Amino acid sequence: MHHMTLAEIARGLADKKFSSEELTQVLLARIAQLDPQLNSFISLTQELALSQAKAADARRANGETGALLGAPIAHKDLFCTQGIRTSCGSKMLDNFKAPYDATVVAKLAAAGAVTLGKTNMDEFAMGSANESSYYGAVKNPWNLEHVPGGSSGGSAAAVAARLLPAATATDTGGSIRQPAAFTNLTGLKPTYGRVSRWGMIAYASSLDQGGPLARTAEDCAILLQGMAGFDPNDSTSIDEPVPDYSASLNGSLQGLRIGVPKEYFSAGLDPRIAELVHNSVKELEKLGAIIKEISLPNMQHAIPAYYVIAPAEASSNLSRFDGVRFGYRCENPENLIDLYKRSRGEGFGAEVQRRIMVGAYALSAGYYDAYYLKAQKIRRLVKNDFMAAFNEVDIILGPTTPNPAWKLGAKNSDPVAEYLEDVYTITANLAGLPGLSMPAGFVDGLPVGVQLLAPYFQEGRLLNVAHQYQLNTDWHTRTPTGF
Ligand code: GLN
Repeated sequence: MHHMTLAEIARGLADKKFSSEELTQVLLARIAQLDPQLNSFISLTQELALSQAKAADARRANGETGALLGAPIAHKDLFCTQGIRTSCGSKMLDNFKAPYDATVVAKLAAAGAVTLGKTNMDEFAMGSANESSYYGAVKNPWNLEHVPGGSSGGSAAAVAARLLPAATATDTGGSIRQPAAFTNLTGLKPTYGRVSRWGMIAYASSLDQGGPLARTAEDCAILLQGMAGFDPNDSTSIDEPVPDYSASLNGSLQGLRIGVPKEYFSAGLDPRIAELVHNSVKELEKLGAIIKEISLPNMQHAIPAYYVIAPAEASSNLSRFDGVRFGYRCENPENLIDLYKRSRGEGFGAEVQRRIMVGAYALSAGYYDAYYLKAQKIRRLVKNDFMAAFNEVDIILGPTTPNPAWKLGAKNSDPVAEYLEDVYTITANLAGLPGLSMPAGFVDGLPVGVQLLAPYFQEGRLLNVAHQYQLNTDWHTRTPTGF
């Protein structure tokens, strides 16, 4: 039962082959048995899951239908869940029970999805390896000595290990697409503003975006359908109608113009990944796509710009964690300043503290123009590059990551080495564009992803291309040994 995709589960539930309650029991048992190896969950919500599953079964018995009605999922632990710990992977929020549901959580619950638990993540979503979590590192089911990617590593490892069919995640600089690539999943970062950020604990508000992690493009379409839409509670939510994503899957790729940026194939890219990217291009050509070389000349500036803008926003967002209003408070503070200092010093881990300091520095009066303002100008140039490229092509294709998943601990002493791994993903966040990573082969037994980028609100086009690719390849069906 645990091998089923969301689409297969929906069919099985509709045909009364099994109930949501039965499926939920099977998956909860599987999580209890296998997750100790992976550490992909921070909290399990067995009771909630079983009551939601029973309610979904009752709704189906009453004639209701829906692709998510009775479908088991999990939420990255930065989506607020009412009455349930929402830790953001941090000691700071270890004792925080959200007083309300995030819009994404509420929408999926209303659609009948069953919440199995809250997944592990890098602390405050800062990281590319899921090693900065207060709850310990997550392991990659493809090789337990390797990282699953981050920051949505818990969602990725759990779905890849068939502990559940799909999970929510968020992507500020790659945290849906990069763990998807490292664990052989399909992950979609929607257009900025497509999915509500209300109740999603903020890291860098102008970059953060929620989206689905699943095994197939078909399942990403189903989960995105339940997540997307205008939300008056989120001032950056965009009031655009949500198309039927599942209906977009079957379009022909005949004549689709795919741009491959020449800058992607620089010295930093593992040549074995470059080869797999070229293979995926050939596969899409066979399906009728037309390949064009394009250029994104400002790509080289994106990492420094991102690692100024994201920490700057984080330093502001995380100022609310002061030991007074939420979460952790130090013991026996001597005075207010001592309370702030020790609560934050003890509650935040090293990477979060580093980002707060970098961000506060970049925003300080003497350095604002030199760093923050300059980074914002680069951000516009990166966006302009994409706008020019999308005048010539319909989709941009390249690697999701320069390397496959590295060994646990390999980059711990060098944060910049980890930042550099985000080179292919962060540009989409800077520009606000939608991006998808799909499985495209293996290097040394570790999965490799190919990234597709599209113009604003063209999530359906990304899902269409990935689905057609998946009808003609079987990378996405491979299962890690032992799971
Ligand atoms: N690795 C990037 C960072 O650490 C992106 C993380 C994310 O997308 N949440 O900021």
